[in-house]
Amino acid sequence: MPLARLLEVRSLSPEIKHFFFDVPGVDQLEFTAGQFVSFTEEIRGKPVTRAYSIASAPNGNRFELCLNRVEGGYFSPYLFALAPGATVPMQGPLGTFVLRPPVRDTILVATGTGITPFRAILARALSRHPRQHFTLVFGARHPHGLIFAEEFRAAECDHPNFRFVPTLTRPDPSWSGATSRVQPLVLEAVGERRDLDVYVCGLKAMVDDVRAILKARGFDRKQIISEKYD
Ligand SMILES: Cc1cc2nc3c(=O)[nH]c(=O)nc-3n(C[C@H](O)[C@H](O)[C@H](O)COP(=O)(O)OP(=O)(O)OC[C@H]3O[C@@H](n4cnc5c(N)ncnc54)[C@H](O)[C@@H]3O)c2cc1C
Repeated sequence: MPLARLLEVRSLSPEIKHFFFDVPGVDQLEFTAGQFVSFTEEIRGKPVTRAYSIASAPNGNRFELCLNRVEGGYFSPYLFALAPGATVPMQGPLGTFVLRPPVRDTILVATGTGITPFRAILARALSRHPRQHFTLVFGARHPHGLIFAEEFRAAECDHPNFRFVPTLTRPDPSWSGATSRVQPLVLEAVGERRDLDVYVCGLKAMVDDVRAILKARGFDRKQIISEKYD
């Protein structure tokens, strides 16, 4: 199994870290934005395998991950405790949560670290598909949970085909944006249109809920592409 080597870790919020890896001995890590890597390690005496979406566009043998620490979990506390230089056995990149051709106007829906594959996808998609419109609906509880928001705000200035719709369910007094869950914002973004693709990433409860409300509005199941983290 190839080894991913941790190069650097940055804190994005009290519970979320941004990990930078490379794969020694590999020139180019081939993948499509939206895919994940599968890490395996022996933890507390048993082999544990977990998937992590790649947070970055293809870039030589380097890739980035972004994850939250799940209290009482196996793998996420293990990764949070790793120091630069440590290696982790890795499989992949794997998965089919990638932009499906022909790319149409697209709505991306994420909560929490479900934003990770969309950061990778948006890094190239906005300039590769200038005639398609992309809307990112991103929900978090607290302001610090809106990770990479500055990047998305900058992308909104640089790309007229991109709209960023952040929402906070537990905002601070300075917040002037949306305060609902993502669901009503998705319906607002969809409007009367049915010729869109919707990509949804996050925990099962949110993904299932968004899928159900879109199906009730007449979306075909093939137009709703999702990745569940739990
Ligand atoms: C395709 C795929 C891609 C993924 N990519 C990412 C990613 O980019 N970033 C990321 O943070 N996670 C991601 N995950 C989730 C990740 O694989 C692990 O499930 C997560 O890190 C928890 O693992 P653990 O061993 O620490 O906890 P476990 O011991 O597996 O779980 C402990 C408990 O926490 C719940 N739980 C699992 N995941 C979460 C979560 N994310 N938040 C809250 N509770 C959870 C479980 O249902 C379980 O009850 C992805 C999952 C899949 C399937």
